[in-house]
Amino acid sequence: MTKWVYNFGAGVNDGNASLRNLLGGKGANLAEMASLDLPVPPGFTITTEVCTEYYKNGRQYPADLKAQVDAALARIEAAVERKFGDERKPLLVSVRSGARVSMPGMMDTVLNLGLNDETVSGLAAASGDERFAWDSYRRFIQMYGSVVLGVDHHRFEEIIEQAKLDANVTEDTALKPGQWRDVVEQYKRMVEEETGKPFPQNPQDQLWGAIGAVFGSWMNPRANVYRRLHDIPADWGTAVNVQAMVFGNMGEDCATGVCFTRDPSTGVNEFYGEYLVNAQGEDVVAGIRTPRPLSKAYAKPGEISMEEALPEAYQELRKVREILEKHYKDMQDIEFTVQQNKLYMLQTRSGKRSAAASLRIAVDMANEGLIDRNTAVMRVNPAALDQLLHPTLDPKAEKKLFAKGLPASPGAASGAVVFSADEAELRAQKGEAVILVRIETSPEDIHGMHAARGILTTRGGMTSHAAVVARGMGRPCVAGAGGVSVDYGAQTLSASGVTLHAGDIITIDGATGEIYAGAVKMIEPQLSGDFGTLMEWADTARRLKVRANAETPLDAETARKFGAEGIGLCRTEHMFFDPQRIGAVRQMIMARDEAGRRAALARLLPFQRDDFVSLFRIMEGLPVTIRLLDPPLHEFLPHGEAELGEVAEALGMDAAAIRERAHELAETNPMLGHRGCRLGVTYPEIYEMQARAIFEAAVEVGKTAQAPVPEIMIPLVGTRKELDITRAQVEAAAQAVFAEAGRTIEYSVGTMIELPRAAITAGQIAGAADFFSFGTNDLTQTTFGFSRDDAGKFLPFYVEKGILPKDPFVSLDIEGVGALVRLAAEGGRAAKPSLKLGICGEHGGDPASISFCEETGLDYVSCSPYRVPVARLAAAQAAIERKEHHFRDK
Ligand code: PEP
Ligand code: MG
Repeated sequence: MTKWVYNFGAGVNDGNASLRNLLGGKGANLAEMASLDLPVPPGFTITTEVCTEYYKNGRQYPADLKAQVDAALARIEAAVERKFGDERKPLLVSVRSGARVSMPGMMDTVLNLGLNDETVSGLAAASGDERFAWDSYRRFIQMYGSVVLGVDHHRFEEIIEQAKLDANVTEDTALKPGQWRDVVEQYKRMVEEETGKPFPQNPQDQLWGAIGAVFGSWMNPRANVYRRLHDIPADWGTAVNVQAMVFGNMGEDCATGVCFTRDPSTGVNEFYGEYLVNAQGEDVVAGIRTPRPLSKAYAKPGEISMEEALPEAYQELRKVREILEKHYKDMQDIEFTVQQNKLYMLQTRSGKRSAAASLRIAVDMANEGLIDRNTAVMRVNPAALDQLLHPTLDPKAEKKLFAKGLPASPGAASGAVVFSADEAELRAQKGEAVILVRIETSPEDIHGMHAARGILTTRGGMTSHAAVVARGMGRPCVAGAGGVSVDYGAQTLSASGVTLHAGDIITIDGATGEIYAGAVKMIEPQLSGDFGTLMEWADTARRLKVRANAETPLDAETARKFGAEGIGLCRTEHMFFDPQRIGAVRQMIMARDEAGRRAALARLLPFQRDDFVSLFRIMEGLPVTIRLLDPPLHEFLPHGEAELGEVAEALGMDAAAIRERAHELAETNPMLGHRGCRLGVTYPEIYEMQARAIFEAAVEVGKTAQAPVPEIMIPLVGTRKELDITRAQVEAAAQAVFAEAGRTIEYSVGTMIELPRAAITAGQIAGAADFFSFGTNDLTQTTFGFSRDDAGKFLPFYVEKGILPKDPFVSLDIEGVGALVRLAAEGGRAAKPSLKLGICGEHGGDPASISFCEETGLDYVSCSPYRVPVARLAAAQAAIERKEHHFRDK
């Protein structure tokens, strides 16, 4: 018999944290907490396998599930001495979803399940609190009605708002028992109107309705979007957790809260959280009432912290915090409820945190001895480092403060105001920077939050949906800006008498919570000491070297600042677009013979030499890989008629001749045309000039500083002969320059591997190469036959439909393109063991691709300067993972 149901709490724990895949994160950790003797109300978890079976069998449950659920429910009844559906002492339960990883796109929670017209009186009698009983019942109808029966939640809110108006009160808590009873009656009528059926009264029907809704929500569109954005496979499935209710809304000695064992924004080792007295969990997360801080240290004047309001439970919670951190060795995100001063734990999981916090927590925990350094390195997501490298607001910039909210997710962003997630997505697709402004966000808004540069909400706390999701996504977010009023109808937001409209530019600072009208100047990030420490630990752990793709002095300086160990790709064509040079370039292209080309190239030589001199100086002896000219020549020609005329005049040529030459150079498939080493082969003087410029610069720099070691790289080689010919050109230039200068420098000549033919014949090509650098942009293009310039039109569709798991231009297609890389690496090294191997396509900065490079034994990766730290960390993680695997295999 398959075990579909796992018990937890009240002395029976069938599961533990290691069963996350089977029990989901929530269920696994409830069992784990219960086995640590923490106060967990008893319950059970229906496994993720049930979800998988359910979908496999046309939405049918396994036959023996019902009996297992009944037995588990009976165990809870016995433990809490209440019975499901009992009129006098009813058992109430919560039903929550729980996948392996937290998924805000899914049905979340139904509380107070088991209440009906009869049991509500039992609850009132048992608790001695009629208001509490009716409030719980209306909460149940509201939650069940919206999440299980699909009734729009506004319909419920309208009824409450009207009840408050009629009773002339402003707070929910001020409504009397009789008034709640009326609300319940109206709710039931409204639900029947909306769904065509009376609200279910039988607790068993309610339970199976809720279980069905959890499994059903696994495939809803929001969950699908979330899974796609986070690479979560659909066949993981979700679990369902059913647990005895404890009540945070039973009076002033009751509360509910969410907390983090360390500050999730800054990472500071301080207990951080929010709570609400006399409330249920959803009130905190939904942001309907603004929660209060947990500890006195975080309370503003006038705010009563939990530390003061419920001192006993607070001290208990502090103990739990210690226990959980020691046990899990990571920052935890905890949900709890206090019922009549007694603390209950409802959830623990590893807490989502900002990039800055993740760095600080990793470094602190290693320094505290809780984890080792390699674990600290593994803890920080390389992509999250990106956030730390983002700009912040220039403190000296002039800015007009519009309003202030909570600093929910760090980073600064400017953009046009939009009020809906769909519009955010639409405008972002057109390349516009937008800030998504909402009263509050819900899982339906995820696509818009992802598309927006930043998020601003007027309601909700630091643990509201907007705050948690934005932090996870690394989007700057200001939440709970209570002073701002948003009018969706008029498409405006106003604060202190100032009104802004949709499309107006605003700037938010997620680190301070400030909101400014207009764009504000930003500055480069200041990297904290923790960043340097973690990078040092990463550098100790990694094997792969990390270089940067850079050609300008500024890029090279940035790259070095971020720790690049050389330049892996200097695209020389980028140096040709400068206004002072483009004339000479065009003259070279226009020339009809070698003499004409040589004259133009002679004008370019000093510019190229100066470029290399400054690069070599900045790189101070580190390797610099310089790629000779690669793109098809027509890319340098003027495009419009007017521009053409200007060029003709500047060059003293006639426009018709230029037009004719441009026509001659036009290609049907320029990416597969006269480019790369094919230019060097047909116009040897071009590579000759470039090689001369490189060697002259190296000799010159070598006179006063550490001699650079140029690595000269030939692009788009497909045959050994191409490399033989171009290599000979480079060597001839080197000999000529060395003879003139009376000194020599060290250098090497290698090739890019960008064509399948090159990969397949790598053994032959290696005979003429000192190194290979994988140009995986072109290699992806030529392996798939996807044009780099046009694939954007259909690749998103391919990814959406699951034809490809990811855009192969972003993350290396390991199966196909990767197989060619491996083949070339092996073939090359077999022919020449000393062959140096690197990668310089965009994939060199992508963590998954870097992991592949580690496995394949490349010597270095090269990526854009800003991604250098990401690559250093990803390379370290890949090395640590490989070692651990190796260790495990043994
Ligand atoms: C490549 O093709 O991967 C490469 C680095 O060269 P480019 O992007 O300049 O074609
Ligand atoms: Mg290329």
